[in-house]
Amino acid sequence: MITLQNVSKYFSLGRGQQLHAVDDVSLTVAAETVVGLVGESGSGKSTLGRMIVGLHTRDTGEICYQNDVLPARFRPVDHVRYARHLQMIFQDPYASLNPRMTVFDILSESLRLQGQTDTRAMSDTIADWLTTVGLHPDHMTRYPHEFSGGQRQRIGIARALMIEPDFVVCDEPISALDVSVQAQIINLLAELKERMGLTLLFIAHDLSMVRYISDRMAVMYLGKIIEEGPSDEVFFNPQHPYTQLLIASNPEPDPDTERARSVEPIRGEITSPVNPGPGCRFADRCPKASSQCTTPPPEVIVSEGHRASCHLLAE
Ligand code: SF4
Repeated sequence: MITLQNVSKYFSLGRGQQLHAVDDVSLTVAAETVVGLVGESGSGKSTLGRMIVGLHTRDTGEICYQNDVLPARFRPVDHVRYARHLQMIFQDPYASLNPRMTVFDILSESLRLQGQTDTRAMSDTIADWLTTVGLHPDHMTRYPHEFSGGQRQRIGIARALMIEPDFVVCDEPISALDVSVQAQIINLLAELKERMGLTLLFIAHDLSMVRYISDRMAVMYLGKIIEEGPSDEVFFNPQHPYTQLLIASNPEPDPDTERARSVEPIRGEITSPVNPGPGCRFADRCPKASSQCTTPPPEVIVSEGHRASCHLLAE
């Protein structure tokens, strides 16, 4: 459904400084699968997701949606053309909903993209979708501020899914919500995934949530995907030292992860992706770093469909 080939996004900071937000990333999202994209804040996950739906330009590489190469810079006409197929669920449900519009106005905008104009028919569709996402049809006359954070995210989910897009980027859709509400939203997305055969890129920093909803998992660090494979394989058999540390730092108690937990927690803060050197980006935090880590780590196929980039794996 979506293929990224050597995609990069750099931000110029002036005085010759360049922030490598996404650097030479390749990734495939097959139809009717969910790929979870995990990593700490500042790893480039959201920038990657926003490039796919045209909210960021890209500097190098190709992004293909089915057989189309998506434009590196979306013009207004491209946004209209692809909005029907590529949608996004945002992190902050309040900021992404216009406070001056009722729920009906917000959701009918999506339906108009499909060419619908009949108010009665749109009202019926919106009522059905509000029920589907766990709200009440009467809610369509209300404004965003009249809802809780979880309810607003349900409206955001309805807005993205009601036009039946082929692909949806979920950009940390639960991180702004209370823990109890996070589980409800994840369960709703998992249920809709099964029912509608959704194709999702699910971005989050909570590994256990990502594992729960995703078929495959990709781990990002300072603009690079450093490990990718089937979710259970990555979670229970992590190969890259960063993935091992990330899982060891995961707060959810789970006896199956005992081996990974024996690894010491990740130390220090993620560093800056400004003018990075050629070597492994994780070297300054990696307990296993050696002199060879000043050169680019090779990408190694660990097992079928499971890859990781680390010098240790090539030995
Ligand atoms: Fe650690 Fe070196 Fe592997 Fe990077 S390449 S993760 S620094 S061992």
